[in-house]
Amino acid sequence: MDEDFKKAVEFHGHVCPGLAIGYRVAKYVKEHYPRSKDEELVAIVENRSCSVDAIQELLGCTFGKGNLVFKDYGKQAFTIFSRDKAKALRVYFQSDFLEGMDRLRQKAMQGELSPQEKKEMEGLREKIIQRILTAPDEEILSVREVDIPAPEKARIYPSLKCQRCGEAFMEILGRTAGGKVVCQECYEKMVC
Ligand SMILES: [Zn+2]
Ligand SMILES: [Zn+2]
Repeated sequence: MDEDFKKAVEFHGHVCPGLAIGYRVAKYVKEHYPRSKDEELVAIVENRSCSVDAIQELLGCTFGKGNLVFKDYGKQAFTIFSRDKAKALRVYFQSDFLEGMDRLRQKAMQGELSPQEKKEMEGLREKIIQRILTAPDEEILSVREVDIPAPEKARIYPSLKCQRCGEAFMEILGRTAGGKVVCQECYEKMVC
Protein backbone atom coordinates (compact mmCIF):
# COMPACT_ATOMS: atom_id res chain seq x y z
CA MET A 1 0.00 0.00 0.00
CA ASP A 2 1.29 3.43 -0.91
CA GLU A 3 2.51 5.41 2.12
CA ASP A 4 0.07 8.26 1.51
CA PHE A 5 -2.87 5.91 1.11
CA LYS A 6 -1.88 4.20 4.34
CA LYS A 7 -1.93 7.52 6.15
CA ALA A 8 -5.35 8.35 4.74
CA VAL A 9 -6.72 4.96 5.81
CA GLU A 10 -5.32 5.43 9.30
CA PHE A 11 -7.01 8.80 9.58
CA HIS A 12 -10.31 7.70 8.06
CA GLY A 13 -10.58 4.33 9.78
CA HIS A 14 -11.30 2.01 6.86
CA VAL A 15 -10.62 1.38 3.19
CA CYS A 16 -13.49 2.35 0.89
CA PRO A 17 -14.10 3.64 -2.64
CA GLY A 18 -14.71 7.18 -1.36
CA LEU A 19 -11.41 7.34 0.44
CA ALA A 20 -9.66 6.02 -2.66
CA ILE A 21 -11.25 8.83 -4.69
CA GLY A 22 -10.03 11.49 -2.25
CA TYR A 23 -6.60 9.90 -2.25
CA ARG A 24 -6.30 10.07 -6.04
CA VAL A 25 -7.42 13.69 -6.10
CA ALA A 26 -5.06 14.66 -3.26
CA LYS A 27 -2.18 12.80 -4.84
CA TYR A 28 -2.71 14.64 -8.13
CA VAL A 29 -2.91 18.01 -6.42
CA LYS A 30 0.21 17.29 -4.36
CA GLU A 31 2.20 16.96 -7.56
CA HIS A 32 1.38 20.59 -8.29
CA TYR A 33 1.02 22.22 -4.89
CA PRO A 34 2.92 21.22 -1.74
CA ARG A 35 0.95 20.05 1.31
CA SER A 36 -0.48 22.84 3.42
CA LYS A 37 1.34 23.32 6.70
CA ASP A 38 -0.78 26.29 7.59
CA GLU A 39 -3.20 27.91 5.20
CA GLU A 40 -1.16 27.88 1.99
CA LEU A 41 -3.83 25.72 0.40
CA VAL A 42 -7.58 26.04 0.69
CA ALA A 43 -9.76 23.13 -0.38
CA ILE A 44 -13.31 23.82 -1.48
CA VAL A 45 -15.02 20.43 -1.41
CA GLU A 46 -18.41 19.81 -2.99
CA ASN A 47 -19.42 16.86 -0.83
CA ARG A 48 -19.03 15.56 2.67
CA SER A 49 -18.22 11.95 1.98
CA CYS A 50 -15.30 9.67 2.79
CA SER A 51 -13.19 11.29 0.06
CA VAL A 52 -12.83 14.51 2.05
CA ASP A 53 -10.90 12.73 4.79
CA ALA A 54 -8.12 11.90 2.33
CA ILE A 55 -8.07 15.55 1.28
CA GLN A 56 -7.71 16.63 4.90
CA GLU A 57 -4.98 14.14 5.71
CA LEU A 58 -2.90 14.43 2.55
CA LEU A 59 -3.25 18.11 1.67
CA GLY A 60 -3.42 19.54 5.18
CA CYS A 61 -6.68 21.31 4.38
CA THR A 62 -8.65 20.67 7.53
CA PHE A 63 -11.82 21.68 9.25
CA GLY A 64 -9.78 22.78 12.27
CA LYS A 65 -7.46 25.13 10.37
CA GLY A 66 -10.34 26.67 8.52
CA ASN A 67 -8.86 25.97 5.09
CA LEU A 68 -11.52 23.43 4.21
CA VAL A 69 -14.66 24.90 2.73
CA PHE A 70 -17.72 22.71 2.31
CA LYS A 71 -20.33 23.23 -0.40
CA ASP A 72 -23.25 20.87 -0.23
CA TYR A 73 -23.49 20.05 -3.95
CA GLY A 74 -23.13 16.27 -3.62
CA LYS A 75 -20.39 16.19 -6.27
CA GLN A 76 -17.01 14.50 -6.18
CA ALA A 77 -15.38 17.80 -7.12
CA PHE A 78 -12.58 19.57 -5.31
CA THR A 79 -11.14 23.01 -5.93
CA ILE A 80 -7.76 23.56 -4.37
CA PHE A 81 -6.57 27.13 -4.17
CA SER A 82 -2.87 27.81 -3.67
CA ARG A 83 -2.16 31.11 -1.93
CA ASP A 84 1.50 30.94 -3.00
CA LYS A 85 0.65 30.58 -6.66
CA ALA A 86 -2.63 32.54 -6.55
CA LYS A 87 -4.09 29.79 -8.69
CA ALA A 88 -6.67 27.07 -8.24
CA LEU A 89 -7.18 23.62 -9.66
CA ARG A 90 -10.63 22.08 -9.88
CA VAL A 91 -10.51 18.31 -9.95
CA TYR A 92 -13.66 16.41 -10.78
CA PHE A 93 -13.72 12.66 -10.27
CA GLN A 94 -15.35 10.81 -13.17
CA SER A 95 -17.39 8.15 -11.50
CA ASP A 96 -19.12 6.60 -14.51
CA PHE A 97 -17.73 3.17 -13.71
CA LEU A 98 -19.33 3.24 -10.27
CA GLU A 99 -22.82 2.87 -11.71
CA GLY A 100 -23.07 -0.89 -11.16
CA MET A 101 -22.18 -0.28 -7.54
CA ASP A 102 -24.89 2.35 -7.14
CA ARG A 103 -27.60 -0.05 -8.23
CA LEU A 104 -26.49 -2.70 -5.74
CA ARG A 105 -26.10 -0.10 -2.99
CA GLN A 106 -29.66 1.10 -3.48
CA LYS A 107 -30.90 -2.46 -3.15
CA ALA A 108 -28.69 -3.05 -0.11
CA MET A 109 -30.15 -0.01 1.63
CA GLN A 110 -33.62 -1.41 1.15
CA GLY A 111 -32.41 -4.72 2.54
CA GLU A 112 -33.22 -6.51 -0.70
CA LEU A 113 -29.89 -8.13 -1.54
CA SER A 114 -29.84 -11.85 -2.16
CA PRO A 115 -26.80 -13.75 -0.79
CA GLN A 116 -25.61 -13.99 -4.36
CA GLU A 117 -25.89 -10.22 -4.84
CA LYS A 118 -24.17 -9.60 -1.52
CA LYS A 119 -21.19 -11.55 -2.72
CA GLU A 120 -21.32 -9.75 -6.04
CA MET A 121 -21.33 -6.42 -4.24
CA GLU A 122 -18.32 -7.25 -2.11
CA GLY A 123 -16.37 -8.40 -5.15
CA LEU A 124 -17.38 -5.33 -7.10
CA ARG A 125 -16.39 -3.04 -4.23
CA GLU A 126 -12.91 -4.55 -4.12
CA LYS A 127 -12.59 -4.21 -7.88
CA ILE A 128 -13.74 -0.62 -7.80
CA ILE A 129 -11.26 0.32 -5.08
CA GLN A 130 -8.45 -1.30 -7.08
CA ARG A 131 -9.55 0.47 -10.22
CA ILE A 132 -9.67 3.84 -8.49
CA LEU A 133 -6.24 3.29 -7.00
CA THR A 134 -4.58 2.22 -10.23
CA ALA A 135 -6.35 3.96 -13.13
CA PRO A 136 -4.32 6.59 -14.99
CA ASP A 137 -5.15 10.16 -13.92
CA GLU A 138 -6.68 11.06 -17.28
CA GLU A 139 -9.22 8.24 -17.05
CA ILE A 140 -10.67 9.24 -13.71
CA LEU A 141 -9.78 12.87 -13.13
CA SER A 142 -10.98 15.81 -15.09
CA VAL A 143 -8.82 18.77 -14.16
CA ARG A 144 -8.92 22.41 -15.06
CA GLU A 145 -7.34 25.55 -13.76
CA VAL A 146 -10.00 27.91 -12.45
CA ASP A 147 -9.88 31.59 -11.70
CA ILE A 148 -11.36 32.21 -8.27
CA PRO A 149 -10.77 35.03 -5.82
CA ALA A 150 -8.52 34.16 -2.87
CA PRO A 151 -10.69 32.73 -0.10
CA GLU A 152 -10.77 34.76 3.08
CA LYS A 153 -8.28 33.62 5.71
CA ALA A 154 -9.50 32.04 8.90
CA ARG A 155 -9.96 34.78 11.47
CA ILE A 156 -9.90 34.80 15.21
CA TYR A 157 -12.47 36.99 16.89
CA PRO A 158 -12.64 38.15 20.50
CA SER A 159 -14.77 36.15 22.92
CA LEU A 160 -17.83 37.28 24.83
CA LYS A 161 -19.66 35.61 27.68
CA CYS A 162 -23.24 34.63 27.04
CA GLN A 163 -25.55 36.46 29.43
CA ARG A 164 -27.79 33.42 29.69
CA CYS A 165 -25.58 30.30 29.95
CA GLY A 166 -22.30 31.98 30.92
CA GLU A 167 -20.25 30.18 28.26
CA ALA A 168 -17.78 32.10 26.15
CA PHE A 169 -18.38 32.33 22.41
CA MET A 170 -16.94 34.10 19.39
CA GLU A 171 -18.23 37.66 19.56
CA ILE A 172 -19.20 37.85 15.90
CA LEU A 173 -21.64 34.99 16.38
CA GLY A 174 -23.55 36.65 19.20
CA ARG A 175 -27.28 37.35 19.08
CA THR A 176 -29.52 39.57 21.13
CA ALA A 177 -32.77 38.45 22.71
CA GLY A 178 -34.74 39.77 25.65
CA GLY A 179 -32.28 42.64 26.02
CA LYS A 180 -29.37 40.23 26.52
CA VAL A 181 -26.38 39.35 24.41
CA VAL A 182 -26.49 35.58 24.11
CA CYS A 183 -24.84 32.71 22.28
CA GLN A 184 -26.47 31.16 19.24
CA GLU A 185 -27.56 28.11 21.20
CA CYS A 186 -29.36 30.13 23.86
CA TYR A 187 -30.84 32.35 21.18
CA GLU A 188 -32.42 29.35 19.53
CA LYS A 189 -33.82 28.18 22.85
CA MET A 190 -35.22 31.62 23.65
CA VAL A 191 -36.64 32.58 20.30
CA CYS A 192 -37.26 29.54 18.13
ZN1 LIG B 1 -15.18 5.46 4.04
ZN1 LIG C 1 -25.64 30.78 26.00
